[in-house]
Amino acid sequence: MLFTSWLFLLASSGVEAKTDFPQHSPVPGGVALVSIPRSLTSDASVPKVYFEKNRVMVLPTNEPEAQWIAVIGIPLSAKPGPQQLQFMDADAKENTLVFEVKPKTYEEQRIQLNNKRQVNPLKQDLERIQREQSEMVSAFKSWHSTSLEFSRFELPTKGEISSPFGLRRFFNDQPRNPHSGLDIAAPEGTPIYAPASGQVMTTGNYFFNGNTVLINHNNGLVTMYCHMHDINVAPGDSLEKGALLGFVGKTGRATGAHLHWSVSLNNTRVDPVLLLDHK
Ligand SMILES: [Zn+2]
Repeated sequence: MLFTSWLFLLASSGVEAKTDFPQHSPVPGGVALVSIPRSLTSDASVPKVYFEKNRVMVLPTNEPEAQWIAVIGIPLSAKPGPQQLQFMDADAKENTLVFEVKPKTYEEQRIQLNNKRQVNPLKQDLERIQREQSEMVSAFKSWHSTSLEFSRFELPTKGEISSPFGLRRFFNDQPRNPHSGLDIAAPEGTPIYAPASGQVMTTGNYFFNGNTVLINHNNGLVTMYCHMHDINVAPGDSLEKGALLGFVGKTGRATGAHLHWSVSLNNTRVDPVLLLDHK
């Protein structure tokens, strides 16, 4: 009898899903974990799920009711209330799932910049800014799926969190886009490490973001590192967790040395804290 239950335990742990999940926080700028009912999926293939036309990360699970969980990045601009996901069901018919976004209010942040050109860029800067923007967006939009595992992140550098994600920002009293990353203040030259394994997609010197690295972590999960002093990696590099990316600096639009760290799911910047390992 004992022997059989031991065997049963072994067998059931063998099919246990081996992935972590981000924290479920279904608010603007947050992440929603939505189970896809078993009745709507087939065992054979990973369901293709879309939110606002962007493909969504889907991870395996082992719930009685679901074999797959959609991990959805929710835009800061999303309105609280019901939102729809599109996906193909087991019969290859388009189906929808509804999930609920709850309200969240982020605080204001007011920043004074002496360099007026960084608040109201000149005409000649705008072309460069647009080109760089589309380079970043195409990295955020790209889809690679060589693994169905997610592991929680380590903070990429040592320092104080100086600005949380989501702050409603004003530069020299003019409203600008909300803060789409997490700022970690650290002395110039502090090393920055990959918070998880991945592949370098793009590096560049950008008008606002300064020296920047973008890393692909599979299934629509992309991270971005900005204002770096030096970049130590090149596009195409495969990185292990903990690989040296470069060093903290204050290049681009920065009032002091810090790392601006963005995390993107389905082309949507979300609060990086929700993907950190809190153990
Ligand atoms: Zn920042």
